[in-house]
Amino acid sequence: MKITEQSFSSYIFSNYTNDTTHFSQKGHEQVVYFQDQATGLQAIVAIHDTTLGPALGGVRFFEYQDEKEALRDVLRLSRGMTYKASIAGLDVGGGKTVLMKQKRTELTEPLLRKYGDFIDRLGGHYITAPDYNTTMEHMVYIAKSTRHVVGLPLALGGSGDPSEHTAYGVYVAMKAAAKKTFGTDNLAGKKIGIAGVGKVGYCLAQLLCQAQAIVYVADICSNRLQAITAACKVEVVAIERLHNWPLDIYAPCALGAVLNSETIPMLNCAVVVGAANNQLANQGEDGKRLLERGIVYVPDFLANAGGLINAVTELKTTSIDLVKQRIEQLYTICLDVLNQAQATTRPTQEVAQEMAIARIEKIKNAQLCR
Ligand code: NAD
Repeated sequence: MKITEQSFSSYIFSNYTNDTTHFSQKGHEQVVYFQDQATGLQAIVAIHDTTLGPALGGVRFFEYQDEKEALRDVLRLSRGMTYKASIAGLDVGGGKTVLMKQKRTELTEPLLRKYGDFIDRLGGHYITAPDYNTTMEHMVYIAKSTRHVVGLPLALGGSGDPSEHTAYGVYVAMKAAAKKTFGTDNLAGKKIGIAGVGKVGYCLAQLLCQAQAIVYVADICSNRLQAITAACKVEVVAIERLHNWPLDIYAPCALGAVLNSETIPMLNCAVVVGAANNQLANQGEDGKRLLERGIVYVPDFLANAGGLINAVTELKTTSIDLVKQRIEQLYTICLDVLNQAQATTRPTQEVAQEMAIARIEKIKNAQLCR
């Protein structure tokens, strides 16, 4: 069936309501579709859970095969945001937007202002932020139509680019996993491979070099590799070889689904901790595969929570020292997850999700008892 702009809303609603695995089973509170023919805007906003506070999550600009794929993505990502905020102890809920990229859609000022208008109609239940293919500069245009946006440039009173904070969180999580696995959180001399030296991977490589780790990097982009080799002492490894390179720690910092039935048997490391979202291709199966292989895995939504911790400061003015302290608390949370997983012989992802859900349930139950 060819989807025209006019039929978009009704098409996606009919598919969506027929597809009960996506909505009811994942427990979302609200899913909203917006379109604007003049600018070509087609967006889906998913609010997963607002028990802890307004749903916060980025707006992703991506060319999906069809609306069904976009819907699946936004439902999955918004749920992940709920877990990330909860486990990091933040008072926000989980939400996400996908802006569907069509052949000629561009993130123009009119489109972003229109998107801001739509977000404003949600009355603050959802707060938008930068994500894949959207930047702080885009947020400036969105902010012309709504105040429910974070991730604005520092110069405009925003919290700036979250990447360095995300990298710091991954670094802290890595230290916790090293403590659990090697008995020390000193990363000096540890062989660490970073797949993807973009915004987060680059900052992470710098932190690890400062900590005197032996750092290997891989990327599909030669400019990124040039930038990092110019900035610090790292060794470049071919992308297809990094996941089975002899390492202490493997850090996926590019794409999701990199831990799967094909790659997990090939891993040659003791620990996996990285920034990439949704690293497990199949959460249940791949979590078990890592457990069976005795590889310590820090769940991505916990390891990469530093950026969200920083973004939340935009809602209440917080000093940079406090942001650092909050990110450093991820160390104890990681150890807690790894210890509980070991004690119960369960995948770390499962344990971390349970902890995130338990915090939300506690608040929900308290609200019911009032
Ligand atoms: P980015 O786009 O700046 O960097 C990604 C890098 O990965 C690029 O250099 C790209 O060339 C490289 N890459 C792409 N495909 C690759 C492949 N097959 N093998 C190796 N390298 C490859 O993105 P980023 O902001 O650094 O984010 C990295 C990951 O972390 C993403 O999955 C993102 O969703 C996640 N994340 C980022 C933040 C943040 O604050 N930026 C926060 C949470 C999660």
